[in-house]
Amino acid sequence: MSHDWYQIEQIDPRTYTIHEADYREKTNQYLLIGKERALLFDSGSGKRGIRSIVRELTDLPVTLFGSHVHYDHIGNHHEFDHIAMADLPINHMQMSEDQFVPRWSMRLTPKRHRFRISEWWPIGETIDLGDRPVEWVHLPGHSEDSVGLIDRRHGLLLVGDLLYQGPLIAFWPTASVSDYLKSAASLSKRYDGERILGGHFPEPVQPDQLSSLVEACEKALDDSRKKRWIPPLSKFQYQETTLYISRSAYLRSSCST
Ligand SMILES: [Zn+2]
Repeated sequence: MSHDWYQIEQIDPRTYTIHEADYREKTNQYLLIGKERALLFDSGSGKRGIRSIVRELTDLPVTLFGSHVHYDHIGNHHEFDHIAMADLPINHMQMSEDQFVPRWSMRLTPKRHRFRISEWWPIGETIDLGDRPVEWVHLPGHSEDSVGLIDRRHGLLLVGDLLYQGPLIAFWPTASVSDYLKSAASLSKRYDGERILGGHFPEPVQPDQLSSLVEACEKALDDSRKKRWIPPLSKFQYQETTLYISRSAYLRSSCST
């Protein structure tokens, strides 16, 4: 199915990728439909509305849950009245009275956003969409607030910007290579052949990219410890993995949840 801006791919009878094919960042949003409610993972760039697209795919109540609050994933949050947020300190810090107002360093755009949070999901919580349990997991590295979803029943692993088929980014504020390693390693341990769904680009993530990412992060950290000077921004390449890493991401110690 194709609209003028979005390309929609049906992954299985109850799961869709809503891909922004014409957007330079090529973001992927995912719609997971249970028996009682649907979950939209990310709302996209906001260059075009997404709610009407979601409505074509399901009549069920929709809960929006974001992988993180970088501008290219929260552009249509204002279209939804039921938003769930990961119960993390970094997210609570961005509450202003009863609204969530992402800081510049988290949203990366001059454009201001604000939205109401209907649900806070505690760490490790499994959410039942109605005969469809999904677990959210904290995946810091690309940013401190990054999260993913594990949907064992449908064999899906939604990883946001931790991993996709393209150069990975660890240079925005709150990026951390040691967090990246921790997140990739913990996911890798739990990985059981699920299809990995990333936050950008239509090309599928290959299963061995997760273990390659773990090795790349280990190697990048090892190399940086041997260096006397770390440049402000550098490109790190290991096997198929390319990471753009800032000095602060090398130096930033792991955040703990
Ligand atoms: Zn991002």
